[in-house]
Amino acid sequence: MERRYLIRTFGCQMNEHDSERIAGVLTADGMTPAHTPDDARVIVLNTCAIRENADNKLYGNLGHLKPLKERRPDLKIVVAGCLAQKDQAEIQRKAPWVDVVVGTHALPQLLELIDRSETDGPQMDIREHTEVFPTALPAVRNDTFRAWVSIAPGCDNGCTFCIVPLVRGPQRSRAIGDILAEVQGLAARGVVEVTLLGQNVNTYGRDVTVPGSSRTPLFARLLREVDAVERLRRIRFTSPHPHDFTPDVIDAMAACEKVCEHIHFPLQSGSDRVLQLMRRSYRRERYLEWLARIRAAVPDVAVSTDIIVGFPGETEEDFLGTLDVVERARFDSAYTFQYSPRPGTRAATMPDHVAADVVQERFDRLVALQNRITLERNQAQVGTTVEVLVEGAGKKGGSTQARTRGNRIVHLEHGLEPGTFVDVRVTGAAAHHLVGEAVGASAPLRV
Ligand code: SF4
Repeated sequence: MERRYLIRTFGCQMNEHDSERIAGVLTADGMTPAHTPDDARVIVLNTCAIRENADNKLYGNLGHLKPLKERRPDLKIVVAGCLAQKDQAEIQRKAPWVDVVVGTHALPQLLELIDRSETDGPQMDIREHTEVFPTALPAVRNDTFRAWVSIAPGCDNGCTFCIVPLVRGPQRSRAIGDILAEVQGLAARGVVEVTLLGQNVNTYGRDVTVPGSSRTPLFARLLREVDAVERLRRIRFTSPHPHDFTPDVIDAMAACEKVCEHIHFPLQSGSDRVLQLMRRSYRRERYLEWLARIRAAVPDVAVSTDIIVGFPGETEEDFLGTLDVVERARFDSAYTFQYSPRPGTRAATMPDHVAADVVQERFDRLVALQNRITLERNQAQVGTTVEVLVEGAGKKGGSTQARTRGNRIVHLEHGLEPGTFVDVRVTGAAAHHLVGEAVGASAPLRV
């Protein structure tokens, strides 16, 4: 049978990006992508420990693969990602038909582990630290014109609801030269937009500055250097932590022509008491101050956020604090989550969990408020002309989906070539997208 691989990815952009590296490693070994589990020789489940029911999803998927493995013992089943790092030997105990469990720091060992499982049976490699950045591995990217670039995996914070520091380890920044070389290579191959990825991008570099120095973060400098890369046209980044935000990042956002007018700025809660319980070391007024400074320096910047509803101990008064900040901040969009405990986190063992029906009712109020604000913010775009990057076919036949620099989705009638830039007049607005018509090819940026 031809050597083919199938990768199923769960979770965030960091996992999507790791999957591109896994595909790169398997491709470099001569394998090609499979379309279904039946024609795959290797199946990789790249797991996420953050989302609700992540383990149920994993074991459900593994249960479906069991009969296939029984029919085809030569099939190799690999579990990678955050849940592999967290559950380790538990996975092969519950699903002994899994051939390889590979943690988040051990991707470079993937081929060796698969090979060893042929002769020595099930393999596991969970190490505590990254020795080789996955970014040193080859990648097979899903898009030809956009790419994620990991700048600093891991996180040094300890938000009490979050499993990331446990499964991804402390922050480890890549060298600036390394990142630039990757971005330059991507731009030379036709990539026009990069998203710089880190759990906390604005502490990028704090762990690699000269020992004994002030451990100054280098994120603003990185933005300026990536901005100078020829042929690149857009730079995005995600996510900054409000606590670590610094004025030099705002200055760089304002000065760098390619840095898009969009920031994802996670609020999590509008109650100082809940922020304290979450160990988020900023307070609501400080958050709003930063937002005002960003908006003053970067006109028309679009702001998105994350909000958790029903954190343990959250009272109605705390929740009203969140609604108040949402009303004042006027986010362009928000990812809203109902709190659910993640085993292994501190919040999971906190008292005063909020009843499910109360969480649901608060969540509905928050979503209704944010939907109204998002629609108002989108309606304010009607009549403007904006540059969009065409992403591909829209959901309606013949239509095209594109994205503004402010990260708003625009639906266009015409079939346009993915990866091209077009100027668009916004003719309509809905809760989650704009409608527009192309008015001409967009002028290239100064490079
Ligand atoms: S900053 Fe907090 S929420 Fe973000 S990855 Fe680190 S611990 Fe998790």
